[in-house]
Amino acid sequence: MSFHPSSTSGHQPLEIVVIGAGLAGSEAAWQAAQRGLHVTLYEMRPHRMTSAHSTDRMAELVCSNSLGSNLADRALGLLKNELRRMDSLIIRCADATAVPAGGALAVGREAFSAAVTDAVTGHPNITVRREELTEIPSDVATVVATGPLTSPGLAEAIRRLAGQAYLSFFDAMAPIVTLDSIDFGIAFRQSRYTPIAAASEQETTGDYINCPLTREQYEAFVAAVHAAEKNSLSEAEADETARRYFEACLPIEVLAARDVKALSFGPMTPLGLRDPRTGRRPYAVVQLRQDNVAGTLYNLVGFQTNIKWGDQERVLRMIPGLENAEFVRFGQMHRNTFINSPALLRPTLQWHDRDDLFFAGQITGMEGYVGSTAGGLWAGLNIARVVSGQRPLTLPPVTMLGALLTYITAAEGANFQPMKANFGLLPPIEPLIRDKRQRYAAYAVRALAALEAVLLEEAALQP
Ligand SMILES: Cc1cc2nc3c(=O)[nH]c(=O)nc-3n(C[C@H](O)[C@H](O)[C@H](O)COP(=O)(O)OP(=O)(O)OC[C@H]3O[C@@H](n4cnc5c(N)ncnc54)[C@H](O)[C@@H]3O)c2cc1C
Repeated sequence: MSFHPSSTSGHQPLEIVVIGAGLAGSEAAWQAAQRGLHVTLYEMRPHRMTSAHSTDRMAELVCSNSLGSNLADRALGLLKNELRRMDSLIIRCADATAVPAGGALAVGREAFSAAVTDAVTGHPNITVRREELTEIPSDVATVVATGPLTSPGLAEAIRRLAGQAYLSFFDAMAPIVTLDSIDFGIAFRQSRYTPIAAASEQETTGDYINCPLTREQYEAFVAAVHAAEKNSLSEAEADETARRYFEACLPIEVLAARDVKALSFGPMTPLGLRDPRTGRRPYAVVQLRQDNVAGTLYNLVGFQTNIKWGDQERVLRMIPGLENAEFVRFGQMHRNTFINSPALLRPTLQWHDRDDLFFAGQITGMEGYVGSTAGGLWAGLNIARVVSGQRPLTLPPVTMLGALLTYITAAEGANFQPMKANFGLLPPIEPLIRDKRQRYAAYAVRALAALEAVLLEEAALQP
């Protein structure tokens, strides 16, 4: 692979700082360097490691080696195509080190991060400094991309800048699925303790979606939860979990390990529900509650879990009605540092009251490897524009990246949680295309055309 930086036109290059050489930081540094800026990239590893990283490489994948779907009509596939169109370093290295994985883009973990490290360290416009920063520089344009495991010293500096209420340190998140992907041949809408007379009406209007389980299905599910591979918590995280999660909010695997019936007395209780198809109370249920205003996303109520993402998908698909569910977020309980982006960031990824400070990656709530990369790319592009005296760009929400940027900067701030790329974030196409695959394909065509228009504008605005 060869990478060619654009010329700096003989002038002294403009300086910027990027903090964190993960997926977002490596991409941001690369994009800014390609646009002729001189980047000092700070990475604290190997002198100071996180609880999830184990090498000194850039863009180390901390868990799965899959970057998700590579299909053009899937949300993550579309986001990758948008990134390819914008010459993403991370996606280029992923394509170059891909391993067979069906419709997904999985990579040889070490070859991938070695390729990113070589490209970044070999770039003439990037200087890498292996140091932990504990303050955000105030005298130079900066991208903060220190990820979910931002070092405590820097997290404290961010907290001071943002305000106490605007930085979350620890997360218990339940999985989220798209409404479209729930099988309503099995699942039914109903709120608990609905008067029998109104039950038929509730089938279409009840606030909750219920996935009923027979005793056999329930017991098989509990056994699978029990056997699934879990992310291990560090001692500090385990203490934090114990402190923050009282009995009513325990992870499902903790309940499953206690007693085979524990989940059916907890989040999977069928009390007050009646399956309209059998007229009887199911043995157990999984309830889903609306998660976004548009009503396209639903979370699994009480299903916070620390099961590893690969196993989690397999186990959750055992729930009747969710066999083909599209998971836009998995449950997790690890430390996850993220800022309240709706209150603090603009859709350009600029800090609300400082034009030359940008945040990117998981710390902004753009969830997952590819979401984090996408934020890095956009911050790198925009910081280059801002320090060169150009106006920063925004992307229309019909693009997948634009939809994510809109979500993290305009979501309801009080309950803001990270979000993965998913079609539920895109404005619908009118009139509605009923066939899901055709609809998603149309979203992809619309997104790439809209992106093209913005990139043409960027090219036209180049000095
Ligand atoms: C345990 C765990 C498992 C995950 N599993 C998956 C998964 O399977 N699939 C998926 O899509 N997503 C997963 N994620 C979510 C997320 O996509 C990844 O964490 C992703 O790496 C985020 O990219 P990033 O660039 O924002 O942060 P990171 O890739 O973590 O990069 C941040 C970098 O900043 C450095 N840094 C931190 N503080 C400082 C400092 N003060 N000074 C200098 N450098 C600093 C870190 O060492 C790190 O290299 C997981 C997250 C965690 C925590």
